[in-house]
Amino acid sequence: MIIDLPKCETKGITIINEFMIIEDQILKIKFPYSFKRAMYTLVYIMKGKHKCFYCSKDILNGKVTLDHIFPQDFGGPTIPNNLQPSCYKCNNEKSNMTPDQYQKFLSLPNMQRKEYLKDLQCIFEFIRKWSDFVLPEGWVQEQQISNIITSISLSEDYKNRKYTSIKEFYKKYNHFQHPLIIDRKNFLLDGFLQLMYAKNYNIEILPVIILENVEVVF
Ligand SMILES: [Zn+2]
Repeated sequence: MIIDLPKCETKGITIINEFMIIEDQILKIKFPYSFKRAMYTLVYIMKGKHKCFYCSKDILNGKVTLDHIFPQDFGGPTIPNNLQPSCYKCNNEKSNMTPDQYQKFLSLPNMQRKEYLKDLQCIFEFIRKWSDFVLPEGWVQEQQISNIITSISLSEDYKNRKYTSIKEFYKKYNHFQHPLIIDRKNFLLDGFLQLMYAKNYNIEILPVIILENVEVVF
């Protein structure tokens, strides 16, 4: 998929900061700059950090949060296409809801909202059991584990809490909670622990989001 980038000249180089440039419509991130930090930076450039997308209220300096439009819990990636600046209240209230679900929630009178949230919990569990992710069509593809390139040694044995939660989720639902994110050359941007888990359990095909206009440079 193509991620949203700030508008710039079709040809030539636009410097975002000392670790990121856009060259010929390709975002180049200097290794080992944090991928998530790079994405946050782009969102603030394109969407600002002083107005909540949902309630339109002004946000005080430093108080902005980034809401995942398609929730992280159902695979929503941290990329500009999926992030909206929002106030803490709206972000917290929207929580795991998709945009449609949140619209419905907001349209209900206060008395019915609690009931709706309860119903959603059943729907969420159903989604986890029966589908992989709640994301627009075409975002997720499959990739052989052997094609994914990472700079971190996969031979190290990670057994931290995050790894354990990936393992437990996979055992319960038989799929990953998040697709891995890789650049146009299959370099891993996000999802190292999933990759580690896949390697440890001989899972050969992985769900990935390929960012066709992003490249890590060394
Ligand atoms: Zn708000």
